[in-house]
Amino acid sequence: MAGDRFEDVQKAIDREWMFRSLREMILIRSENPFDDAPAEGYRETEMAGYLAGQLSTLGLEVETREVRPGRPNVFGRLKGKQGRSALMLAGHMDTARTTGYPEAYDVKETNGRMYGRGACDMKAALAAYLGVVRALRDTGMRLNGDLIVCGIVDEEYQMLGSKAIGQAGRMADQGIIGEPTHLNVCPANKGRVSTKIITRGRAAHSSVPEKGINAIDQMAKVIRAFGDYNRELLGRTPHPLCGHGRFTPGVIHGGVQVNMVPDVCELEVDRRTLPGESRESVYAEFHERIRRAAEGDPDFVYEITAPTWLIAPNDISPEEPVVTALRAAHQRIFGKDPGVEAFVAGSDAPYMGFPTVICGPGGIAQAHTTCEFVDLQEVADAARLYLHAVLQLLG
Ligand SMILES: [Zn+2]
Repeated sequence: MAGDRFEDVQKAIDREWMFRSLREMILIRSENPFDDAPAEGYRETEMAGYLAGQLSTLGLEVETREVRPGRPNVFGRLKGKQGRSALMLAGHMDTARTTGYPEAYDVKETNGRMYGRGACDMKAALAAYLGVVRALRDTGMRLNGDLIVCGIVDEEYQMLGSKAIGQAGRMADQGIIGEPTHLNVCPANKGRVSTKIITRGRAAHSSVPEKGINAIDQMAKVIRAFGDYNRELLGRTPHPLCGHGRFTPGVIHGGVQVNMVPDVCELEVDRRTLPGESRESVYAEFHERIRRAAEGDPDFVYEITAPTWLIAPNDISPEEPVVTALRAAHQRIFGKDPGVEAFVAGSDAPYMGFPTVICGPGGIAQAHTTCEFVDLQEVADAARLYLHAVLQLLG
C-alpha cells in the first residue's frame, strides 16, 4: 500500500540538494516586472529556464509556453503507467518587489532558516516539488497517473500565467499550490475587487463656491453611503472558511488648489469578496448604495472605473481527493489531522481550470516583507507531505 512505498521514497528525499536548489532559485532575481518589460532583475524567464533544466535533468518531459514575451510558464510531466489521472504541483516563479530590502539577494542560512526574496513566497515550494520528483527518480518509483510540476509567471500582479493555464483547457484533475500556509490545508480563499469611484462637479473660484459643484462634497456623500457597509457585510451569513467580506476606502484624491472649487474627486476602494461574489455583484452593491445616498441631488455625477485589482476567490470542496490526501499525509507524518482553513491572500488557484488547494511551507507573515525567510524543516516536511499525497492520488 501507499504507506510502505512512502517510507521507502521519503528516505530518498535529499534535503541538502533541495535546499541548494532553493538557494539557487532565490539568487535568480525574478521580481514581477508589473507594467515594465522583462529585464535585468525581472528574470522570470531565467527562473523558468532553471526550473525547466532541473525537471529535464530529472527525466520529465518539459514544455515552456510563453504567456507574454520573455514570460513563460513551465510544465514538466512525469508520465504515469496508465495516465488515468493527473496531479499538478504548481507555484509561481515571480516574486514581490524588493524596494527597501537591500539584503533581498544576500541569501543567508542561519538557525535552520533561509533568508531572501522569494524564500517562502514561493520558491520553497518549488524546491520541495523538485525534491519529490528527485526522490521518485532515485527510487525508481513508477506512478500510475501523471505528475505535472508547473512554474507560473505573474502571480504577483495580474495572474496572467495561471489565467493562460486555465484558458488552455483542463490540464490536470487536481492541483496543489504551495503558497506559504505553514503547511495548513486551504481549499478556499477570499477574492478582491478594487476600483475607483469618481465624483465630478464644476470648478469655480472659492469666493463664489455657489457657482460651482464641489466634487469633494459630492464624495462625502459617497463615503457616507458606505458608512454601515462593513456592519452589513458582517451581518450576512459567513462562508464556512472565509468568514465575511470586507470593505475599505484606501486612497482619496481631490482638488488642485485651496481657492478653487474642485471639479473631480477620486476614491479608491478595496472590497474583499467571498466565494459566490463577483465583480458584477460587488459593482451592483456599490451603485445601489451610492444612488440611495445621492437621491434628490440632480447635480450628482459619479462613475465607477474598471477594477484596479480583480482577484477571484477560490472555493473547492473539502471533500476533493487532493484535500483529503493532504490531510491524510498530515495524519501519517505528524500524527494529526490539521482540518481545513482559508488562505488569507489571493492566489493562482481559482484560475487553474481544475480544483486546486493551497498548502505550502513558510508563512504569509514573512512574504512581501523586507525580512523574508522560510524554515528549512518546513521545506523538508512539505516535500514529505506532497510525496505522500502524490503516492495516494497517483500511486
Ligand atoms: Zn505567492
